[in-house]
Amino acid sequence: LHHAKAAGRDTHRFYAEAMNAEAVAHLSTRSGLRRALERGEFLIHYQPQVSLETGAVTGAEALVRWNHPDKGMVPPGDFIPIAEDSGLIVPIGAWVLTEACRQAAQWHAQGLALSVAVNLSALQLQRSDLVRTVTGALSDSGLDPLLLELELTESMLIQNTDVVMDNLRRIKAMGVQVSIDDFGTGYSNLSYIGRLAVDKLKIDRGFVADLTRNHDSAKITAAVIQMAHSLNLTAVAEGVEDAETLEALRGLNCDFAQGYFLGRPGPAEAVERAARQVNPFKVGV
Ligand code: C2E
Ligand code: MG
Ligand code: MG
Ligand code: MG
Repeated sequence: LHHAKAAGRDTHRFYAEAMNAEAVAHLSTRSGLRRALERGEFLIHYQPQVSLETGAVTGAEALVRWNHPDKGMVPPGDFIPIAEDSGLIVPIGAWVLTEACRQAAQWHAQGLALSVAVNLSALQLQRSDLVRTVTGALSDSGLDPLLLELELTESMLIQNTDVVMDNLRRIKAMGVQVSIDDFGTGYSNLSYIGRLAVDKLKIDRGFVADLTRNHDSAKITAAVIQMAHSLNLTAVAEGVEDAETLEALRGLNCDFAQGYFLGRPGPAEAVERAARQVNPFKVGV
């Protein structure tokens, strides 16, 4: 009995310590994030988006990274959820938007009319100052609104509050493009697509990745592309990792693609170099 009690205490202490460590890690990431904003530790990697018709790079997705002084490059999956919980995603997201617009305007000034896609968090879309932030990023950079694209997820459109609907209407009215990210993984209430005048569906890489091996994934991808086209939307495939998948997507008349096979996320200069090549990825050759 004595032993069992001691073991119980130890187990309890073990869990308490583990929880404490997690809470501390969370807190330190939280204060770390605040410091990172002040010290300029965030940076953006850009992943090229390629036209499946021409093989040309037509734009890039902005993907934030945290260059941590001790931990090195921290991927967004490790800090975006904490940034969302703490509300810090709002200033971080505003920074990403501003910086991505500046970069796309610079590309444009260099003769490259590349679009830039920026991921939004639910919290940003729920705030009444989103339109002001977007307008600010566009006017500071001088970027043509048509070259800015905002990526939302299906779950963000479920809470169709007045603020969210108003934000989307006003963003669309500026000429900014709107796409649905990770399409097919969320709560599939398709009624919002027509109503919200979305421009693009980005097919989740979960379907694209095993397209050539899994019959269901192939069927779903084909159906999403068909649906997009019948609604006058553009279809983008995420997560293209090999030539066979690329060919299959061309066969399905998918419009654009993104993925490691076409280019990993990296510095803006890599996108620039790829965009200057005549037939950068030898699509269809
Ligand atoms: P996402 O928007 O769906 O971005 C695509 C993710 O898939 C990126 O991961 C990208 O590096 C990865 N990816 C691209 N091609 C391939 C491929 O061929 N194979 C595989 N396995 N993966 C591929 P990353 O950069 O780690 O970003 C993860 C997520 O973090 C993003 O998913 C997005 O939801 C979020 N995120 C990134 N930047 C931001 C941001 O600035 N704001 C917000 N709110 N979220 C962001
Ligand atoms: Mg995205
Ligand atoms: Mg995605
Ligand atoms: Mg994703």
